[in-house]
Amino acid sequence: THFGFETVPEEEKAKRVYKVFENVAQKYDIMNDAMSFGIHRLWKDALLHIMHPQPGARLLDVAGGTGDIAFRFMDYIHSQQEKQERLRVQSMQTPSWQDISDKYSTEDEGGPQESTAVICDINKEMLKVGKQKAESMGVSAGLSWVVGDAEELPFDDDQFDIYTIAFGIRNVTHIDQALQEALRVLKPGGRFMCLEFSKVTNPVLARLYDAYSFQIIPALGEVIAGDWKSYQYLVESIRKFPDQEEFKGMIEDAGFYRVQYYNLTGGVVALHSGFKL
Ligand code: SAM
Repeated sequence: THFGFETVPEEEKAKRVYKVFENVAQKYDIMNDAMSFGIHRLWKDALLHIMHPQPGARLLDVAGGTGDIAFRFMDYIHSQQEKQERLRVQSMQTPSWQDISDKYSTEDEGGPQESTAVICDINKEMLKVGKQKAESMGVSAGLSWVVGDAEELPFDDDQFDIYTIAFGIRNVTHIDQALQEALRVLKPGGRFMCLEFSKVTNPVLARLYDAYSFQIIPALGEVIAGDWKSYQYLVESIRKFPDQEEFKGMIEDAGFYRVQYYNLTGGVVALHSGFKL
């Protein structure tokens, strides 16, 4: 075929993936908006809505790139905290000594702990862009940026409440290995959540989507980032990724429970979720 990456041997894949994201890092956010008409924002919002994290939760966002998921996570937590605070104030008629002491105590065991998010990515260029973004928006608190491979995470066992991977797992060479690692670093009761391009279920949408992705995406890549090949790779990797049911089976095989998925935008993207027991 005319798609040059299809014949890439397995051991070459990681190198190619690294080059792709090294090349696009500076333009990554703009390209995301341009290629998805901004819809990737809705998919990421949907992830947070279904996750519904509570204050104190610890997130690990693997293949976290420029930090989109982690930023949304912190945002969501802060809005939850504000909501809880409003409810508390409403339910208080006269504040008791306990209420006041709760509010001002810094070492209160019962109070909500600070949430943290670790953004882990194999590509330091992507992380660099994310870190700069966090600094310029003044939202660095609680975030840490760690270079690491999804197949061999640099974290101890049973550390995180939530593991996310958004548009990352299809880039990983051994998906089963990445799933094993997700299971290992999650606390018992912790949740695995994955956003990934999937199989479009509506046949009309499927034809439009095919035409769009094979013809327009590499062209946009050329125009905006001066990089046709990287975006051609992107489209091919989407093609090759297992469909909703097959991926669900892989997550179950890795040892997760209550695995389910949600189709977003007619299956253009699927959100898979599972729990560690
Ligand atoms: N999660 C971000 C988002 O949704 O905007 C970034 C997604 S970007 C399409 C894919 C990311 O996966 C890139 O930053 C790339 O460096 C990273 N990646 C690829 N292979 C990886 C691996 N084996 N381990 C960790 N990250 C990897």
